[in-house]
Amino acid sequence: MMYRSGIGYDIHRLKKGRPLRLGGVKIPHAMGLDGHSDADVLLHAIIDALLGAAGLPDIGRHFPPGDPKTKGISSRTMTAKAIREVHKQGYRVVNVDSVLVAEAPKLAPYREALRTSIARLLKVPVTSIQVKGKSNEGLDAVGQGKAIAAHAVVLLCSTSTTT
Ligand code: MG
Repeated sequence: MMYRSGIGYDIHRLKKGRPLRLGGVKIPHAMGLDGHSDADVLLHAIIDALLGAAGLPDIGRHFPPGDPKTKGISSRTMTAKAIREVHKQGYRVVNVDSVLVAEAPKLAPYREALRTSIARLLKVPVTSIQVKGKSNEGLDAVGQGKAIAAHAVVLLCSTSTTT
């Protein structure tokens, strides 16, 4: 059995008047994340971890920022495409661990919804997905409530029994 790990990181600015989507879930909040897509920072970190683990080019190569065809694209669509690429390479997801760094909103009330959403997108049991929430202790842009950042680690295993 062949295993491969991947790491992903992303950060997006918070902006008034944008919806907030994290892990594919719409979360009620005064501000949302700004970006070319729906700016789901957690899914973007997970996508980069998936692609990296599979030895594929990063999210920016799959979905170039500024491409008018992908303006406003749902990160759920991006994740679905990334997982298809991973499966095509002969891998499946063993587990995902992730950290969402935000001053607000607090993650706890939404954690299970996020885990369920991500698990469905990656076609794995919810027990294979973990999301941890951290504040940035008031430090830097994230701590000042200007941005939300996310880190993700993914483990893939080969679906072929011979490699
Ligand atoms: Mg991003």
